[in-house]
Amino acid sequence: MKADTKLIHLGRGPKVAEGTVNLPVYRASTIVSPDVDSYLGRFDGDKVYTHVTYGAGGTHNARALAETVADWEGGAGTVVTGSGLSAITVTLGALLGAVDHVLVTDSAYGTTRNFCQTVLKRYGIETTFYDPAIGSDIESLIKKNTALIFLEAPGSLTFEMQDVPAITAVAAKHDLLTAMDNTWATPLYFNPLNHGVDVSIQAGTKYVAGHSDVIIGLVTAASDALYRRIRDHARILGDVAGPDDCYLALRGLRTLSVRLPRQSESAHKVATWLSGHPAVARVLFPPLPDDPGHALWKRDFSGSASLFGLSMHSKDEERVKRAINQLKLFQIGSSWGGFESLVAMNRMPVERAVRPWAENPFLLRLHVGLENADDLIEDLAQALREI
Ligand SMILES: *Cc1c(COP(=O)(O)O)cnc(C)c1O
Repeated sequence: MKADTKLIHLGRGPKVAEGTVNLPVYRASTIVSPDVDSYLGRFDGDKVYTHVTYGAGGTHNARALAETVADWEGGAGTVVTGSGLSAITVTLGALLGAVDHVLVTDSAYGTTRNFCQTVLKRYGIETTFYDPAIGSDIESLIKKNTALIFLEAPGSLTFEMQDVPAITAVAAKHDLLTAMDNTWATPLYFNPLNHGVDVSIQAGTKYVAGHSDVIIGLVTAASDALYRRIRDHARILGDVAGPDDCYLALRGLRTLSVRLPRQSESAHKVATWLSGHPAVARVLFPPLPDDPGHALWKRDFSGSASLFGLSMHSKDEERVKRAINQLKLFQIGSSWGGFESLVAMNRMPVERAVRPWAENPFLLRLHVGLENADDLIEDLAQALREI
């Protein structure tokens, strides 16, 4: 079955809903048992994985969302967590222990980096940040205690691509696990598990939920053993997504296969227009032919998200701020993946261990929503007259 069909038909939940198309919201803390013996045996065997045992383990809504995403990604199981960030921290916590060493791409989401430098460090886990362009040379960074390689492509804010198959081949050779933050492409445009990654992570907050009203995380494991390890860790931590958020994420997922291609097409139009504008130094978007990550993107990805970076010639922060404030359709905000266009300004340099990022004192990030691309270009054109 093709992905767009799956996203419509999977995860409709148990047939208890009197024919409603969408599984209703099951709100629960307590799950009552019919008798004392069933109560005493409520966690027996595999029940924590197969039954709704207590609200903190997720209700039918988490299960329906998890089943849908697991099947979509081609994984053994999906763990639904309370945020995209906790999808990452639960994965790192589940797969690492004291004195382990983890390799993390230097271009990772900033809060992933922060977690490594604070919590993991405190727990005796050492992080080495590696150049996202490292490819198979990552082998030289592997130590005796290396347990995991963490990837993200394109990188948060700076949009560097990674050679995922080259890195997972090295990991396989050394018996290391790999996990990848795949929030940008979603499995519609890049399937990590098909490229040798063991654990695929998405901030469901972004394109999956798609309406800027949910915080949720999704962790899909290639094997059942890994799935259980991560699920157990999330349970022990008490990390859970509420049923209403699971409902909204699954409802968002139903329309992803029309939202994303449309947003992607508009993003190409807007990015191409911007790359020809005299005020623009560079558009950081791997689908553009002159982007440094273009060849890798073209080889491995089947489409693109609608989020890209924008570097301006002007170093005059006040003028650029004035231009941004002038925008009518692009609202100022972070997070992304919703139906609306957004612009964010980030002060540079971003923190880097390997190669300093000193392109400009600031870098803009644009998210292209479902508005008409011509209107968005017109909006940008009038604002850029400020510069
Ligand atoms: C937003 C984001 C996250 C975190 O998701 P939240 O749900 O906001 O916690 C993680 N990774 C990437 C790449 C993101 O863009």
